[in-house]
Amino acid sequence: MADFCVDCWNKLNDTNCPPSKFILSRNLELCEGCGEYKRVIDIELDDELKFFKRNFSTIVFWRIKRLFRRF
Ligand SMILES: [Zn+2]
Repeated sequence: MADFCVDCWNKLNDTNCPPSKFILSRNLELCEGCGEYKRVIDIELDDELKFFKRNFSTIVFWRIKRLFRRF
């Protein structure tokens, strides 16, 4: 499950969707984009697969960036 807050989701997809357009997690979860605890978007598996195919390089880049922040 990829967890992104609405802000990061919009950045990744180059969209400006309001939070009401998404199903958000009930609890605060670690956003994989900005690394902050926020309510993240609950993505169905199918959507996530499509999302990964479309944004694969972006996600890899963000993951690497996040790794570096950890050290
Ligand atoms: Zn975020």
